[in-house]
Amino acid sequence: MARYSGPVCRLCRREGMKLFLKGERCHTEKCAIEKRNFAPGQHGKDKKAKIVGYGLQLREKQKARRYYRILEGQFRNLYEKAVNQKGITGELMLAMLEKRLDNVVYRMGLATSRAQGRQLVRHGHVTVNSRKVNIPSFHVKPGDVVEIRQGSRENASILSARDATAHTPSPSWLEVDRDALRARVLQQPKREELVQIQLNEQLIVELYSK
Ligand code: SF4
Repeated sequence: MARYSGPVCRLCRREGMKLFLKGERCHTEKCAIEKRNFAPGQHGKDKKAKIVGYGLQLREKQKARRYYRILEGQFRNLYEKAVNQKGITGELMLAMLEKRLDNVVYRMGLATSRAQGRQLVRHGHVTVNSRKVNIPSFHVKPGDVVEIRQGSRENASILSARDATAHTPSPSWLEVDRDALRARVLQQPKREELVQIQLNEQLIVELYSK
């Protein structure tokens, strides 16, 4: 599956906020938002026009998509799935994003960014219910057990990510055993724990439902 492989700090600068795409660097003064908090490009420092209507909806959509590091086609597919389910479409959509396997690995604290979580999954380091799964968009469900494969338990990048995220609390919908490099999915993710950035998912629904 295709992925965005260009520079990521400019994505944060475009949205005017930290999207936490670069792991530990995001928490240091080297973060581009700390140093250059203006839009990328030649006109980045120009006075900003007020964004309203469609522009606002577009920015919210881009923000969510970039935060979870997925491309437009996949993002739209998630909306189509959410719209066909019972419940609040925006919340269902965010819950689906959160249940992606690459995000779960990140939430377990075994990767410092979703990109690293994705790489661990792609490289076959992760199992779900004891079976290797190398599809980052795989959706976990309550009762699933996600863990690092036996042969990868000494992987230096996983262990250093675990140490680096030692003080980051795990979400309540995951029961994480950091020492065992394992987590059990307890329930559906709750809205208040879904995104660590300010996001109005209703604007995304309005954009797609036009
Ligand atoms: Fe770059 Fe992370 Fe800062 Fe975003 S939050 S600008 S990805 S260092």
